[in-house]
Amino acid sequence: MRIIRGRAEGTATAARTDTFVGEVWADPVLPTTDDTTINVVTFTPGARTNWHEHGRGQILQVLAGRGWVCAAGGRPQTLLPGDTVWVPPGERHWHGATASTLMTHTAVSLGPTSWYDEVSDDEYNGEQE
Ligand code: MN
Repeated sequence: MRIIRGRAEGTATAARTDTFVGEVWADPVLPTTDDTTINVVTFTPGARTNWHEHGRGQILQVLAGRGWVCAAGGRPQTLLPGDTVWVPPGERHWHGATASTLMTHTAVSLGPTSWYDEVSDDEYNGEQE
């Protein structure tokens, strides 16, 4: 058993630039352990992930702000604090802040992540639910 007090020690908060659009910060909670990684991720207004998939799925729990999550073939759906999202293995999707708010979520990522193209402005600004 291992108890983590607050966040992982010895690892800095990281600006995520390679597979995201906009300014995104990831604070490590659990570095990858038994194929599971936990980060607290803050998206600045307009920032979002690229399209991606998680090999064994992902759990998102929204802590603050307001954001979007969108599965391939669907429309962006609103995320609010207290919301939990289960993304099944292999479902292509993106998540991020709204254009005018921050959004912070805990991300529990299971298995390897496969990254794809950026979410275009047209996709980001698409018809939203
Ligand atoms: Mn994801």
